[in-house]
Amino acid sequence: MRVLIVEDEHKIARALKKALEQETYAVDVAFDGDEGYAMATTEPYDIAIIDRMLPGSYDGLGIVKAMRDAKVHTPVLFLSALGSISERTAGLDAGADDYLVKPFALEELLARVRALLRRPTEQQSAILEAGDLTLDTVTYSVERASKAIQLTSKEFALLEYMLRNPGRPLSKEVIISHVWDYDADILPNTVEVYIKYLRNKIDAPFKKPLIHTVRGFGYKLEG
Ligand code: CA
Repeated sequence: MRVLIVEDEHKIARALKKALEQETYAVDVAFDGDEGYAMATTEPYDIAIIDRMLPGSYDGLGIVKAMRDAKVHTPVLFLSALGSISERTAGLDAGADDYLVKPFALEELLARVRALLRRPTEQQSAILEAGDLTLDTVTYSVERASKAIQLTSKEFALLEYMLRNPGRPLSKEVIISHVWDYDADILPNTVEVYIKYLRNKIDAPFKKPLIHTVRGFGYKLEG
């Protein structure tokens, strides 16, 4: 899953990026409001973490409002040192989905990110499933037919993204934009390579394949 951080305090931005990357997310950082606005409204992020007070012509509220006006429905977690009820209300009314007051514990931020990434259809479960395959987004364990499977962090991120979009044909470009960050120089055949790694681990040892090639387009995962 791909995350955008908009935060002008470099130290906080770097700490967040590092923590989120350790959790297998692809992370981009914008350090001011204008860059944050441009990225949030043009790149397909799965979640955006946006600081309230930012230099530039857009503050956090402005970015969220602009995103919602542009019909960008990416879940937004607002960060702010301003924790009064009226400040929280303003953030949520502008279109943010959650609000975290600084200073906060990284563990809490990560838990809130996981919560925002869950869909109602997944019944708030941390476990994603397809057929006899399960992926636990909290413990990072993957099993198929009760057999543990070891994945690298990129393989895990790719599988997680596919499990969150079951049965949906995903183009290589869409996969790249959700699994790799902006700085990664990724070509469509890199996706083919990672799909091959994943197939060797989750499909090859088993009878029924879960990853299907959609000819001339990309891949879909179906249990
Ligand atoms: Ca700030």
